[in-house]
Amino acid sequence: LQHHDGDSSGLGMPRGEQEELHQAITCDQLFLEYQPQVDVATGRITGVEALVRWNHPAKGRVPPVNFIPLAEETGLIVPLGLWVLNEACRQARSWQDMGLAPVTVAVNVSAKQFADPDFASHVAEALERNRLQSRWLELEVTESVVMQNAERALAMMEQLRAIGVRLSIDDFGSGYSSLAALKTFPFDRLKMDRSLVEALPGDKTAVAIASAVISLAQTLKLSVLAEGVETDAQMDFLRHAHCEEAQGYHFSKPVSPEELSRMLQTRLP
Ligand code: C2E
Ligand code: CA
Ligand code: CA
Ligand code: CA
Repeated sequence: LQHHDGDSSGLGMPRGEQEELHQAITCDQLFLEYQPQVDVATGRITGVEALVRWNHPAKGRVPPVNFIPLAEETGLIVPLGLWVLNEACRQARSWQDMGLAPVTVAVNVSAKQFADPDFASHVAEALERNRLQSRWLELEVTESVVMQNAERALAMMEQLRAIGVRLSIDDFGSGYSSLAALKTFPFDRLKMDRSLVEALPGDKTAVAIASAVISLAQTLKLSVLAEGVETDAQMDFLRHAHCEEAQGYHFSKPVSPEELSRMLQTRLP
């Protein structure tokens, strides 16, 4: 998808790709994988993050980095995101119906979805349709999503809080993020970006920043999750720093719903 071969416009425009992506949404070519999130102290699964994939008829499995940007540019992220939201709620309901202990299901929300005045009612509808209590749904947004139009974002977050879903700030500490979003917006949870976790525990600066982020979260009464945890040494650090939750290849890569339901039987990844 990054190459524009097979592009009939000859202008390098993603016209054909846009059409294909539209078909992906309407013709059932998207699917979700789920990555467990664990309690650092007990190793138990507390939640899962839903991550979208595209089963392309010719190219096979396409990762989200290769189509989410196009979806955002073209506005197709709105129907795509709605599909993800509904599918994640449907899956959460199905796990609960299997008698598995309920876990939070986190869904990524992009800027255009969050700016859609109907977004909160789409969320309420997805919960209702699947008879899912709002406390089991978490919405992940990045700082740039809320900072684009702070007033509008704040109003949206208040509607979502009234519904009762959890709100987390994703990729915290990546790129040019500042602390402004934390003081302005009512988040429940902070997800510390993989770039901060990567250099732990060898790098002194990384240790200082990660420790500061964890205690900042605690002071602000946000729960804190470390993303991209890959090693035992990182886990030792996070345990000592009292980071509550973690997610990463150390526990599990994103897996199919079937594989996740096997994990949920023991609540261990
Ligand atoms: P993200 O929200 O930061 O999701 C975490 C990404 O890190 C996932 O990549 C996951 O597979 C990967 N990851 C998890 N643990 C580790 C680890 O230990 N090491 C490393 N190196 N990577 C790890 P994935 O699934 O390719 O998704 C990439 C990005 O695509 C996501 O980043 C998110 O921004 C976006 N995305 C995925 N699904 C959706 C969706 O349904 N809607 C929207 N708007 N964006 C999505
Ligand atoms: Ca995320
Ligand atoms: Ca993230
Ligand atoms: Ca990321």
